[in-house]
Amino acid sequence: MGAETILGEIAEQVRACQLCRLSQSRTMAVPGEGPDQAEIIFIGEGPGFHEDHQGRPFVGAAGKFLEELLTSIGLDRSQVYITNLVKCRPPGNRDPRDDELEACTSTYLDRQIEAINPKVIVTLGRFSMARYFPNARISSVHGRAQPVNGRLVVPMYHPAAALHQPALRSAIEADFQRLPDWIQKSAEMAPSEEPAADNPQQLSLF
Ligand code: URA
Ligand code: SF4
Repeated sequence: MGAETILGEIAEQVRACQLCRLSQSRTMAVPGEGPDQAEIIFIGEGPGFHEDHQGRPFVGAAGKFLEELLTSIGLDRSQVYITNLVKCRPPGNRDPRDDELEACTSTYLDRQIEAINPKVIVTLGRFSMARYFPNARISSVHGRAQPVNGRLVVPMYHPAAALHQPALRSAIEADFQRLPDWIQKSAEMAPSEEPAADNPQQLSLF
């Protein structure tokens, strides 16, 4: 089966999903969107108000900022895959809970990443970063790429937070400027350079 078929199937499953309590309060589930062969995937936290109403990721203020950041490095959102850790909006935009994160990522996000097979994963915000670097502090590691399973994972601040905090905004803008380098570097990564997947903490950051 091609990636497009697999992604379409996952999206259908997400739209009908009732695996966790977030299904009860959502308006629409938000599977994610982008090319099936995208080189980069952006992983946010979860849908907000506008996403919940439209069924699409990053369509509110944070999404507009994300689009500006992409434009600043010559990319359009149609060229990247954009999704979230949890596919349904947590009520009142509360933090996603551990059981919701576990249910949703193991059932959907992991399969999306496997199907797309991106070279670069950009995590947006603390929760998304914690999937790859559970003990990292975002203030220390943002913008620094680290190899995980033969891909580069680049943690970044969440655009919703960065939008209104000048220091974080400068940081995410600068981190985006380095993304083209990470994309280039990821293409040069040989399989022998792939780290032991279970120990990303022990690897040095680029
Ligand atoms: N914030 C997120 O984390 N994801 C979205 O899709 C929108 C806002
Ligand atoms: Fe299913 Fe994920 Fe929505 Fe929970 S958040 S109901 S696991 S799609």
